[in-house]
Amino acid sequence: SEVPRYTGRFAPSPTGPLHFGSLVTALASWCEARAHQGRWLVRIEDTDLPRNQLGAEAEILTQLETYGLIADEPILRQQDRIDLYNHILDDLAAQGDLYGCACSRKQLTGYTAYPNTCRNKKLSLTGHAVRLRVSDDTLCFQDQLQGQVCEDLSKTTGDFVLRRRDGIISYQLAVVVDDYLQGVTHIVRGADLLDNTVRQIWLRQCLRETTSKPIIEPIYAHIPLAMNAQGQKLSKQNLALPLNVKKPVENLQAAFVALGQNAIDASSPEHFLQQAITCWDINRIPRQTQLDGQF
Ligand code: GLU
Repeated sequence: SEVPRYTGRFAPSPTGPLHFGSLVTALASWCEARAHQGRWLVRIEDTDLPRNQLGAEAEILTQLETYGLIADEPILRQQDRIDLYNHILDDLAAQGDLYGCACSRKQLTGYTAYPNTCRNKKLSLTGHAVRLRVSDDTLCFQDQLQGQVCEDLSKTTGDFVLRRRDGIISYQLAVVVDDYLQGVTHIVRGADLLDNTVRQIWLRQCLRETTSKPIIEPIYAHIPLAMNAQGQKLSKQNLALPLNVKKPVENLQAAFVALGQNAIDASSPEHFLQQAITCWDINRIPRQTQLDGQF
């Protein structure tokens, strides 16, 4: 069979504008895709409605354009695909993989893994949170940067939520479905998502049993995170400064150097990116979960 074309993606949530850490991740996934003559997609992960910030999506897309990081295909918004995710839940339900859960947050405090309270109660999926059964096998994958990662989900998370009681589709479900349907072959993203990956691998395994279509197992590279002066990861939650779009070349240069790459002189973002493709080397990225230096 034909080898699928390299397909990478950047998948921001519209919870605020991009900050330096987001640029590092976007640039890494873009460079990897281009260095493989691959496609690069942008997807807006906006299923978690209460966390979405008005105007953030438009701002993110403007920022990406300013940096010359342009998607090869129309941008996909997860909010437009809720019916699709619900259909996929029906398929998983038909397979007996799901159950309704009536546990309150309070009932679950103190547990790391879900204690299986509702596993055999046969509660309806509507009106309840929907959980996916996990196995107690240890699952492993080889991360291009972080090495081998293994996890027994029954001990770490337990059966996890794919749809909340209020109907909100979980990040885990939307990300796996979209990566599969968009033909994503390579996932380059922040190391803060490393500990979601085994759940996503398990979910993909369950989805495979619902369809005869081939589902690609993507290759993962989790990029070390940029930290602030307090040693916290840059995030919208701890109010990392948005990028100064008046200095796109300087921001790109700093992100490239943070990724362990050689400095590049450039007159414009396009000029910068042109050169970045030719000297990009993923193996120069520090093999750690946090970048040295303060951003
Ligand atoms: N939407 C996620 C975030 O902004 C990223 C998801 C992913 O790359 O898998 O943190």
